Amino acid sequence: FDQREGTIWFDGVLVPWRDAKIHVLSHGLHYGSAVFEGERAYGGRIFKSVEHSTRLRKSAELLDFTIPYSVAEIEAAKALVLKTSGLQDAYLRPVAWRGSEMMGVAAQGNTIHLAVAAWEWPSYFDPETKMKGIRLDIADYRRPDPRTAPSTSKAAGLYMICTISKHRAENKGYADALMLDWEDNVAECTGANVFFIRDGAIHTPLADRFLDGLTRQTVIELARRRGFSVTERRIRPEEMSGFDECFITGSAAEVTPVAEIGPYRFTPAATTKTLMEDYLTEVQPNSEAA
Ligand code: PMP
Repeated sequence: FDQREGTIWFDGVLVPWRDAKIHVLSHGLHYGSAVFEGERAYGGRIFKSVEHSTRLRKSAELLDFTIPYSVAEIEAAKALVLKTSGLQDAYLRPVAWRGSEMMGVAAQGNTIHLAVAAWEWPSYFDPETKMKGIRLDIADYRRPDPRTAPSTSKAAGLYMICTISKHRAENKGYADALMLDWEDNVAECTGANVFFIRDGAIHTPLADRFLDGLTRQTVIELARRRGFSVTERRIRPEEMSGFDECFITGSAAEVTPVAEIGPYRFTPAATTKTLMEDYLTEVQPNSEAA
C-alpha cells in the first residue's frame, strides 16, 4: 500500500506517496499518540468534511495534543489532496501524531504532525448482494469504560482491540465483530455503529461510551425525517433475538445490512433498504443538505 503512485499531504506539502515516511522512533507508533479520520468524497465533494476535520482536532485534544492546523487549513489540505488525486469518489484518511524528538511516555515537546491521503475505495456493491446482509461475530474484547480510555476520541490506540477482534472474526469466516461495552451492553462494530429494527421502530445504542459516528447521526436524522421512531438506549445482547432487521453505519461502511450476529438472525427488509437508499442520496453533492 505504501508503494504506489500518488501524492500525500504531509505537514503542509504534497510529497510523493512512496516518500511519505516517518521515523521509527515516532511517539505515535510506540505509545499510540495518534488520531485519524475516515471520510468519503462523492462526486468531488467530501461528505460532512468540516465535521470530520472538527472531530479530528477534538480527538487530538482528548489525547492532550493540539493539531497545529485549523479546521479551515485541514479543509484546504483535504481539498488539495482530493483534487490532486483526480478522483471524484474517494476515501480520505487524515492522520495526526506525536513525532520523534523525545522517546518515553512523556513527550510534551514533540512536534505534532498531520498527513492526509486519498485513495479509491469503492462503495458500490449491487444492492441485491448487499441486502443479503453480512455476518458478525461477537467480540471477546469490550469497548472500554470512559474512565479507562478517552472512548469518544477517534484515537489509533482504541483500534488495537478492534483489529484483534476483526481478525479473529475474519478467521472464523465472519465479516466483522460486534463489540459489547464493559457493562455487556451492545456497543458498536470494530469500525461502524449498529442499529436494530423491531416492528418498524429503530433502536440504537446510546453513543455516550464509543464513537458517535457522523453516519450514525445522519441516519438518525434521515430516519426521523421519514417519520420512523428512533430510540437511543442501552441494548442488552439477549434483546437481539427480538429484532427483525439490523444494519451498521460508518463513513466506509455507509449503511450495510446485517443478517447474523453470533446466534441471532435478522432479515434485511424495507426499513433498512429505505435508509440505505436515503443515505446514498444524502451524500450526493446535489442533495438538499449539501
Ligand atoms: N465506530 C468506530 C469504532 C469507527 O471506527 C467508525 C468509523 N469512523 C464509526 C463508529 C462510524 O463513524 P463515522 O460514521 O463517523 O464514520
